[in-house]
Amino acid sequence: MLTPWDVPEIIDYKKTMEQFGIKEITDEMKDLHHFFRRNIILGHRDFDKVLEAIKNKNDFAVVSGMMPSGKMHFGHKMVVDMLKFYQKYTDEIYIPIADLEAYWARNISFEKAKDIAIDYIANYIALGLDVERVNIYLQSKNWKVKDLALILAKKTNWNELKSIYGFGGDTNIGHLFAPIVQVADILQAQFDNNFEKIPKITLVPVGLDQDPHIRLTRDIANRFKITPPSATYHRFMRGLLGGKMSSSKPETAIFLSDDNETVKKKIFSAKTGGRESLEEQRKFGGRPEECIVYELFLYHLILDDEELKNIYEKCKSGELMCKECKKMAYNLITEFLNDLKEKRDIELAKKIVEKCWG
Ligand code: SF4
Repeated sequence: MLTPWDVPEIIDYKKTMEQFGIKEITDEMKDLHHFFRRNIILGHRDFDKVLEAIKNKNDFAVVSGMMPSGKMHFGHKMVVDMLKFYQKYTDEIYIPIADLEAYWARNISFEKAKDIAIDYIANYIALGLDVERVNIYLQSKNWKVKDLALILAKKTNWNELKSIYGFGGDTNIGHLFAPIVQVADILQAQFDNNFEKIPKITLVPVGLDQDPHIRLTRDIANRFKITPPSATYHRFMRGLLGGKMSSSKPETAIFLSDDNETVKKKIFSAKTGGRESLEEQRKFGGRPEECIVYELFLYHLILDDEELKNIYEKCKSGELMCKECKKMAYNLITEFLNDLKEKRDIELAKKIVEKCWG
């Protein structure tokens, strides 16, 4: 069972999408952004509505929760890139900081969540998101979301939550309630402060592990006769060693705060699709589809399609060797991270979180 709290190492994306009725990305969607074009965002629910809103310059909201646990790495950057993209089309972006969920499900104190959130927001600023045009809030301090969760809770029951999330009898009650708070995070844009309904297209860009939340939210939205949220689903970047990328295993991820020396060690130990020897690589070519370094190019480092294609073909033909390729990745990453360091505005991030804290 795929849940937001326990992502398996290997996900059969196609099977999962078929199982839960997630649609494939259309050619028209592929024109929007390289994440769509490169099959990084590989599925959607009702994204056609968002596309129409973009084309017709109509209003829509975007919600993207921030889970304050561990340091930010390149896997997290992807969502910020998407928010930055949608900010070109809407001023209604919400970032709930999921401190209640972090407390209930991951045992993270509210104070710690606050500190982590400051660090995340400083990165969001450095990555180019205009945070002053975003509605950022802490779940624990947002009365509207908490009250809405209480109202929405009436339209779901234990059997439904158990079948979606696989909760056991020993799950704490807060953790059981966490999905309802997330439902409220997603649907709050469709309620005014008096809880009158104001139906609205709302997009939630998430990893495939978050689909249980989306399914529950869409079902509850239907029961309240408001607009079920649209969603896009991205695949997960693999960890540097080939398995799962995880904040708790530093060797598996490049953190946005890593120094040059650390990046060097990580990149040069990363799993590639290279052959046993240089001779074999020249003869048979490399396997970019298995290579984590190539994955970094694909997701983040090389935005020009032609340039990326060139690397792919040179790797396949045996013209490009892994050492040279890793050097290129190292240079691109360190240049990017050094620039990011200069753009991190901790003072502004603190100001925003203090304002949420009340
Ligand atoms: Fe990966 Fe580059 Fe080696 Fe090809 S040459 S397998 S892309 S590191």
